Amino acid sequence: MHDGKALQSATSHNFGDGFAKAFGIQYTDKDNTLKYVHQTSWGLSTRLIGAIIMAHGDDNGLVLPPRIAPTQVMIVPIQQKKEGILEKCMEVKDMLSNFSVKVDDSDKSPGWKFSESEMRGIPVRVELGPKDMEANQAVLVRRDTHEKITVSLDNIAEEVGTLLETIQKDMFERAKAHREAHTYVARTFDEFVKTVEEKPGFVKAMWCGDRACEDKIKELTTATSRCMPFEQEHLADTCVCCGKPAVKMVYWGKAY
Ligand SMILES: [Zn+2]
Repeated sequence: MHDGKALQSATSHNFGDGFAKAFGIQYTDKDNTLKYVHQTSWGLSTRLIGAIIMAHGDDNGLVLPPRIAPTQVMIVPIQQKKEGILEKCMEVKDMLSNFSVKVDDSDKSPGWKFSESEMRGIPVRVELGPKDMEANQAVLVRRDTHEKITVSLDNIAEEVGTLLETIQKDMFERAKAHREAHTYVARTFDEFVKTVEEKPGFVKAMWCGDRACEDKIKELTTATSRCMPFEQEHLADTCVCCGKPAVKMVYWGKAY
Protein backbone atom coordinates (compact mmCIF):
# COMPACT_ATOMS: atom_id res chain seq x y z
CA MET A 1 0.00 0.00 0.00
CA HIS A 2 0.97 3.66 -0.27
CA ASP A 3 2.36 3.79 3.27
CA GLY A 4 4.52 0.71 2.70
CA LYS A 5 2.32 -1.69 4.62
CA ALA A 6 1.22 -4.97 3.08
CA LEU A 7 -2.43 -5.91 2.67
CA GLN A 8 -3.70 -9.41 2.20
CA SER A 9 -5.51 -9.08 -1.09
CA ALA A 10 -7.50 -12.28 -1.27
CA THR A 11 -7.78 -15.57 0.54
CA SER A 12 -6.71 -18.89 -0.88
CA HIS A 13 -7.13 -22.15 0.99
CA ASN A 14 -6.33 -25.73 0.22
CA PHE A 15 -9.21 -27.83 1.64
CA GLY A 16 -7.79 -31.11 0.45
CA ASP A 17 -10.55 -33.76 0.49
CA GLY A 18 -11.91 -32.75 3.91
CA PHE A 19 -15.14 -31.19 2.69
CA ALA A 20 -15.51 -33.78 -0.05
CA LYS A 21 -15.54 -36.53 2.58
CA ALA A 22 -18.00 -34.61 4.79
CA PHE A 23 -20.42 -33.98 1.90
CA GLY A 24 -19.78 -37.07 -0.18
CA ILE A 25 -18.48 -35.30 -3.30
CA GLN A 26 -16.97 -38.01 -5.47
CA TYR A 27 -15.94 -38.69 -9.04
CA THR A 28 -15.07 -41.78 -11.05
CA ASP A 29 -11.34 -41.85 -11.68
CA LYS A 30 -9.73 -43.36 -14.77
CA ASP A 31 -9.14 -46.62 -12.84
CA ASN A 32 -12.96 -46.79 -12.56
CA THR A 33 -13.09 -46.32 -8.79
CA LEU A 34 -14.88 -43.58 -6.85
CA LYS A 35 -12.60 -40.96 -5.32
CA TYR A 36 -13.09 -37.82 -3.28
CA VAL A 37 -12.42 -34.52 -5.02
CA HIS A 38 -9.78 -32.11 -3.74
CA GLN A 39 -10.93 -28.53 -3.32
CA THR A 40 -9.45 -25.08 -3.14
CA SER A 41 -11.14 -21.85 -2.16
CA TRP A 42 -10.29 -18.44 -3.55
CA GLY A 43 -11.99 -15.37 -2.18
CA LEU A 44 -11.95 -11.75 -3.16
CA SER A 45 -13.71 -9.37 -0.83
CA THR A 46 -14.65 -5.71 -0.41
CA ARG A 47 -11.22 -5.31 1.19
CA LEU A 48 -9.95 -4.76 -2.35
CA ILE A 49 -11.99 -1.56 -2.52
CA GLY A 50 -9.96 -0.37 0.45
CA ALA A 51 -6.80 -1.42 -1.38
CA ILE A 52 -7.74 0.71 -4.40
CA ILE A 53 -8.36 3.74 -2.18
CA MET A 54 -5.07 3.27 -0.34
CA ALA A 55 -2.92 2.45 -3.35
CA HIS A 56 -4.19 5.10 -5.77
CA GLY A 57 -6.03 7.81 -3.82
CA ASP A 58 -4.56 11.25 -3.19
CA ASP A 59 -5.35 14.33 -1.08
CA ASN A 60 -8.28 15.23 -3.37
CA GLY A 61 -9.97 11.88 -2.87
CA LEU A 62 -10.42 8.74 -4.93
CA VAL A 63 -8.45 7.99 -8.08
CA LEU A 64 -10.11 5.07 -9.84
CA PRO A 65 -8.55 2.97 -12.60
CA PRO A 66 -10.64 3.58 -15.76
CA ARG A 67 -11.44 -0.11 -16.29
CA ILE A 68 -13.33 -0.37 -13.01
CA ALA A 69 -14.62 3.20 -12.63
CA PRO A 70 -18.46 3.20 -12.54
CA THR A 71 -18.35 6.58 -14.32
CA GLN A 72 -15.35 6.99 -16.62
CA VAL A 73 -16.08 10.46 -17.94
CA MET A 74 -17.86 13.45 -16.38
CA ILE A 75 -18.82 16.26 -18.72
CA VAL A 76 -18.96 19.64 -16.98
CA PRO A 77 -20.66 22.46 -18.90
CA ILE A 78 -19.11 25.91 -18.41
CA GLN A 79 -21.70 28.72 -18.39
CA GLN A 80 -24.35 26.10 -18.97
CA LYS A 81 -27.17 28.69 -18.99
CA LYS A 82 -25.78 30.11 -22.24
CA GLU A 83 -27.65 29.03 -25.30
CA GLY A 84 -26.53 25.77 -26.84
CA ILE A 85 -23.98 24.74 -24.19
CA LEU A 86 -26.01 22.04 -22.48
CA GLU A 87 -27.21 20.74 -25.86
CA LYS A 88 -23.60 20.53 -27.05
CA CYS A 89 -22.63 18.65 -23.89
CA MET A 90 -25.43 16.15 -24.55
CA GLU A 91 -24.13 15.76 -28.12
CA VAL A 92 -20.66 15.04 -26.76
CA LYS A 93 -22.17 12.49 -24.38
CA ASP A 94 -23.66 10.69 -27.40
CA MET A 95 -20.30 10.82 -29.17
CA LEU A 96 -18.81 9.07 -26.13
CA SER A 97 -21.47 6.35 -25.99
CA ASN A 98 -18.78 3.65 -25.89
CA PHE A 99 -17.85 4.77 -22.40
CA SER A 100 -19.64 5.29 -19.13
CA VAL A 101 -20.39 9.03 -19.30
CA LYS A 102 -22.42 11.53 -17.30
CA VAL A 103 -23.18 15.21 -17.78
CA ASP A 104 -23.24 17.25 -14.57
CA ASP A 105 -26.12 19.61 -15.39
CA SER A 106 -26.84 20.46 -11.74
CA ASP A 107 -27.06 24.11 -10.63
CA LYS A 108 -23.72 23.95 -8.78
CA SER A 109 -20.77 26.05 -9.93
CA PRO A 110 -18.21 24.54 -12.32
CA GLY A 111 -15.55 24.69 -9.55
CA TRP A 112 -17.79 22.69 -7.23
CA LYS A 113 -18.42 20.15 -10.00
CA PHE A 114 -14.69 19.83 -10.72
CA SER A 115 -13.99 19.08 -7.05
CA GLU A 116 -16.82 16.60 -6.76
CA SER A 117 -15.77 14.69 -9.86
CA GLU A 118 -12.19 14.60 -8.52
CA MET A 119 -13.29 13.43 -5.09
CA ARG A 120 -15.24 10.59 -6.71
CA GLY A 121 -12.18 9.54 -8.69
CA ILE A 122 -13.75 9.88 -12.14
CA PRO A 123 -10.79 9.29 -14.50
CA VAL A 124 -11.55 11.96 -17.11
CA ARG A 125 -13.38 15.29 -16.87
CA VAL A 126 -14.54 17.04 -20.02
CA GLU A 127 -14.94 20.81 -19.80
CA LEU A 128 -16.98 22.55 -22.46
CA GLY A 129 -17.89 26.26 -22.54
CA PRO A 130 -18.88 28.91 -25.10
CA LYS A 131 -15.30 29.45 -26.33
CA ASP A 132 -14.79 25.71 -26.76
CA MET A 133 -18.07 25.40 -28.61
CA GLU A 134 -17.01 28.18 -30.98
CA ALA A 135 -13.68 26.44 -31.63
CA ASN A 136 -15.30 22.98 -31.96
CA GLN A 137 -13.19 21.69 -29.09
CA ALA A 138 -13.29 20.50 -25.47
CA VAL A 139 -10.78 20.25 -22.64
CA LEU A 140 -10.00 16.83 -21.18
CA VAL A 141 -8.63 16.77 -17.64
CA ARG A 142 -6.90 13.69 -16.24
CA ARG A 143 -7.85 12.79 -12.66
CA ASP A 144 -4.52 11.11 -11.95
CA THR A 145 -2.16 13.90 -13.08
CA HIS A 146 -4.52 16.93 -13.46
CA GLU A 147 -3.07 17.39 -16.96
CA LYS A 148 -5.31 19.34 -19.35
CA ILE A 149 -5.55 18.37 -23.01
CA THR A 150 -7.50 20.34 -25.60
CA VAL A 151 -9.07 18.13 -28.28
CA SER A 152 -11.20 18.66 -31.34
CA LEU A 153 -14.81 17.46 -31.09
CA ASP A 154 -14.29 15.73 -34.44
CA ASN A 155 -12.26 12.96 -32.83
CA ILE A 156 -13.13 13.27 -29.14
CA ALA A 157 -14.26 9.64 -28.85
CA GLU A 158 -10.90 8.39 -30.06
CA GLU A 159 -9.00 10.83 -27.83
CA VAL A 160 -10.98 9.84 -24.74
CA GLY A 161 -10.51 6.14 -25.50
CA THR A 162 -6.75 6.55 -25.84
CA LEU A 163 -6.59 8.69 -22.71
CA LEU A 164 -8.50 6.14 -20.60
CA GLU A 165 -6.09 3.41 -21.71
CA THR A 166 -3.11 5.66 -20.94
CA ILE A 167 -4.42 6.47 -17.46
CA GLN A 168 -5.02 2.78 -16.76
CA LYS A 169 -1.47 1.91 -17.82
CA ASP A 170 0.16 4.86 -16.03
CA MET A 171 -1.65 4.13 -12.77
CA PHE A 172 -0.51 0.53 -12.87
CA GLU A 173 3.07 1.50 -13.70
CA ARG A 174 3.16 4.10 -10.90
CA ALA A 175 1.85 1.63 -8.33
CA LYS A 176 4.33 -1.01 -9.50
CA ALA A 177 7.24 1.46 -9.43
CA HIS A 178 6.20 2.49 -5.91
CA ARG A 179 6.22 -1.14 -4.81
CA GLU A 180 9.61 -1.78 -6.42
CA ALA A 181 11.10 1.37 -4.89
CA HIS A 182 9.99 0.10 -1.49
CA THR A 183 11.28 -3.46 -1.82
CA TYR A 184 14.60 -4.21 -0.15
CA VAL A 185 16.98 -7.13 0.25
CA ALA A 186 18.31 -8.49 3.54
CA ARG A 187 20.99 -11.17 3.78
CA THR A 188 21.63 -11.16 7.52
CA PHE A 189 19.25 -11.05 10.44
CA ASP A 190 20.62 -7.68 11.61
CA GLU A 191 20.09 -6.25 8.16
CA PHE A 192 16.58 -7.70 8.14
CA VAL A 193 15.59 -6.20 11.50
CA LYS A 194 17.06 -2.80 10.61
CA THR A 195 15.30 -2.70 7.23
CA VAL A 196 11.91 -3.71 8.65
CA GLU A 197 12.23 -1.05 11.34
CA GLU A 198 13.47 1.80 9.19
CA LYS A 199 12.03 1.27 5.73
CA PRO A 200 8.31 0.62 5.22
CA GLY A 201 7.82 -1.86 2.39
CA PHE A 202 8.77 -5.41 1.47
CA VAL A 203 12.00 -7.14 2.41
CA LYS A 204 13.21 -10.01 0.24
CA ALA A 205 15.12 -12.61 2.21
CA MET A 206 15.98 -16.30 2.07
CA TRP A 207 14.16 -18.81 4.29
CA CYS A 208 14.95 -22.37 5.37
CA GLY A 209 11.34 -23.56 5.19
CA ASP A 210 11.03 -23.99 8.95
CA ARG A 211 7.93 -22.57 10.64
CA ALA A 212 10.04 -21.74 13.72
CA CYS A 213 11.93 -19.08 11.75
CA GLU A 214 8.69 -17.54 10.50
CA ASP A 215 7.42 -17.41 14.07
CA LYS A 216 10.65 -15.93 15.39
CA ILE A 217 10.70 -13.21 12.71
CA LYS A 218 7.08 -12.33 13.46
CA GLU A 219 7.72 -12.20 17.19
CA LEU A 220 10.84 -10.04 16.95
CA THR A 221 9.89 -7.71 14.10
CA THR A 222 6.07 -8.05 13.61
CA ALA A 223 6.83 -8.68 9.93
CA THR A 224 5.22 -11.74 8.37
CA SER A 225 5.84 -13.76 5.23
CA ARG A 226 3.71 -12.16 2.49
CA CYS A 227 4.54 -14.09 -0.64
CA MET A 228 6.75 -16.86 -1.98
CA PRO A 229 7.01 -15.78 -5.62
CA PHE A 230 7.20 -18.22 -8.54
CA GLU A 231 10.10 -16.15 -9.86
CA GLN A 232 12.71 -16.96 -7.27
CA GLU A 233 16.00 -15.14 -6.75
CA HIS A 234 18.99 -16.67 -5.06
CA LEU A 235 20.02 -13.94 -2.65
CA ALA A 236 22.05 -16.10 -0.30
CA ASP A 237 22.74 -19.76 0.57
CA THR A 238 21.41 -19.53 4.10
CA CYS A 239 18.20 -18.64 5.94
CA VAL A 240 18.14 -15.01 7.05
CA CYS A 241 16.96 -16.11 10.50
CA CYS A 242 18.73 -19.33 11.52
CA GLY A 243 21.64 -19.64 9.07
CA LYS A 244 20.64 -23.14 7.91
CA PRO A 245 20.51 -23.86 4.17
CA ALA A 246 17.85 -21.75 2.45
CA VAL A 247 15.14 -23.29 0.28
CA LYS A 248 13.08 -20.29 -0.85
CA MET A 249 13.17 -16.55 -1.26
CA VAL A 250 10.26 -14.94 0.55
CA TYR A 251 8.78 -11.43 0.61
CA TRP A 252 8.32 -10.21 4.18
CA GLY A 253 6.54 -7.14 5.44
CA LYS A 254 4.38 -5.53 8.10
CA ALA A 255 0.73 -5.89 7.24
CA TYR A 256 -2.57 -4.25 8.13
ZN1 LIG B 1 15.61 -20.64 9.23
